[in-house]
Amino acid sequence: SQSKQTMGFQAEVKQLLQLMIHSLYSNKEIVLRELISNASDAADKLRFEAISNAALYENDSELNIRVSFDKAARTLTISDNGIGMRREEVINNIGTIAKSGTKEFFQNLTGDQAKDANLIGQFGVGFYSSFIIADKVTLITRRAGETEAVKWESHGEGDFTIEATEKAGRGTDVILHLREGEDEFLNDWKLKTIVRKYSDHITLPIVMKKSEWKDGEQVPTDEDETVNKASALWARSKNDISEEEYNEFYKHVSHDFENPLAYTHSRVEGKQEYISLLYVPAKAPFDLYDRDRRQGIKLYVKRVFIMEDAEKLMPQYLRFVRGVIDSADLPLNVSREILQDSRDVEAIKNGSVKKVLGLLEDLAENKPEDYAKFWEQFGRVLKEGPGEDFANKDKIASLLRFASTHTDSETQNVSLKAYIERMKPEQEAIYYITADTFAAAKNSPHLEIFRKKGIEVLLMSDKVDEWLLGSLTEFEGKKLQSIAKGDLDLGKLEDEADKEAQKQVEEQAKDLVERIKTALGESVKEVKVTHRLTDSPACLVAGEHDLSGNLARILKAAGQ
Ligand code: ADP
Ligand code: MG
Repeated sequence: SQSKQTMGFQAEVKQLLQLMIHSLYSNKEIVLRELISNASDAADKLRFEAISNAALYENDSELNIRVSFDKAARTLTISDNGIGMRREEVINNIGTIAKSGTKEFFQNLTGDQAKDANLIGQFGVGFYSSFIIADKVTLITRRAGETEAVKWESHGEGDFTIEATEKAGRGTDVILHLREGEDEFLNDWKLKTIVRKYSDHITLPIVMKKSEWKDGEQVPTDEDETVNKASALWARSKNDISEEEYNEFYKHVSHDFENPLAYTHSRVEGKQEYISLLYVPAKAPFDLYDRDRRQGIKLYVKRVFIMEDAEKLMPQYLRFVRGVIDSADLPLNVSREILQDSRDVEAIKNGSVKKVLGLLEDLAENKPEDYAKFWEQFGRVLKEGPGEDFANKDKIASLLRFASTHTDSETQNVSLKAYIERMKPEQEAIYYITADTFAAAKNSPHLEIFRKKGIEVLLMSDKVDEWLLGSLTEFEGKKLQSIAKGDLDLGKLEDEADKEAQKQVEEQAKDLVERIKTALGESVKEVKVTHRLTDSPACLVAGEHDLSGNLARILKAAGQ
């Protein structure tokens, strides 16, 4: 066994700890929520590993979480008999290595305490939140199946110590040595209230000592009592679940700090039997574009946690969705490989995608303000949809929102349907322009003729727009057409007089065009008289089948 060792926190961890202690002191109750949440995750992991190795239970298969306190020693302890941790796991999980997304997190800090507290919440405060109420934390843990236990201890400043120790039962004890003034965490009634408020949905029993009144004081007895409901929230009937319970459960599965924007809870029966409880967050996480980001959906089989795997259960373009899917049919020993090409999983995924798209449609229709919030956070991700999910292309397309010349505002709030409703009677296509920035799109000389004729054009400047337009070529029978590509054919929007005038101009300009062609030589494909412009003298146009100027710029920037 190894002797006591002192190790330093990674610089970012140190910074995070300081920030957390100073900005979250008014949210002390979340400490209990975070530690209970970790204990619950540890039990889930043990149950899963024990499916293939029952010996891990060590004759103790009654999983629970215990909350206890010692008034004299001023300690609050959260214990679990879950999976536990090995020495390296302790070092890696709580201490030296910052979570993915830490850098982005620091970049997003504003210095405004209220705002930053919110950001910390989104980032996921987790274990470190202990230091909000404790000036010393001792963690003693033994991994299921191992003999050696580990003791980790820290004051939450620069470093922590780690040493070998003994522990009879498997799992983890987290002992909080409370800061001065934190006596409410030594109060039985207060603790039980907090547990019920934040952790009622936890599937495991959260056990505390029963207390009785003696001489005007509450004194713990030797008898245990289960404080929470300890039933899987998603398996309960909708009518029995309050809004607050839904919200707390969301915070548990998502590690988010704020309430969700919307959710859908359903029990599917028939060929595939499963329950899904899926949430749309109110805010995008920092790691939305990070490949190593947290997974999104927890898969359960008959209430047993199996794994967290976003890809098999939710497509990439819905990667922001959080929640639980509990199948009644999949085998308990389902592996990642089985999930990969299981038709049952495919059916569950398809059903769940429909639920989420339905939820978004409902939001768009009935709560437009919430939908605007959703779009601001996740619109760019949803735009990946038509390219990824062919079967639901039309549904997704109707959920898309764009900026357009109708408002000339950068806010993306024009649906394709609204665009079509405003189309001129003779107009056949949905016109758009893509550019690097909104300003470039809005001020493009290509727009001149459209503005003059009062024809609306969608202004696209998100990177993902080019990818979107590659797969979304029409909507409700109307072609999506770039106004910056090929010959501009306004079709029936041009009258005979226009065409006659254009012909005359072309005749007159013939010599000029020849001279420009000679001057520009190889650097252009073609020089033409245009009717696109009303004010500007000239513009660059991509060929009908060429990359658009914007896409060419994106590829060049990416080194291709
Ligand atoms: P998160 O729970 O979001 O991963 P935390 O800071 O809460 O972040 O915990 C960090 C990690 O420490 C967990 O992912 C887990 O691996 C480990 N951990 C924390 N508490 C426990 C526990 N009670 N039992 C086993 N592992 C734990
Ligand atoms: Mg946690």
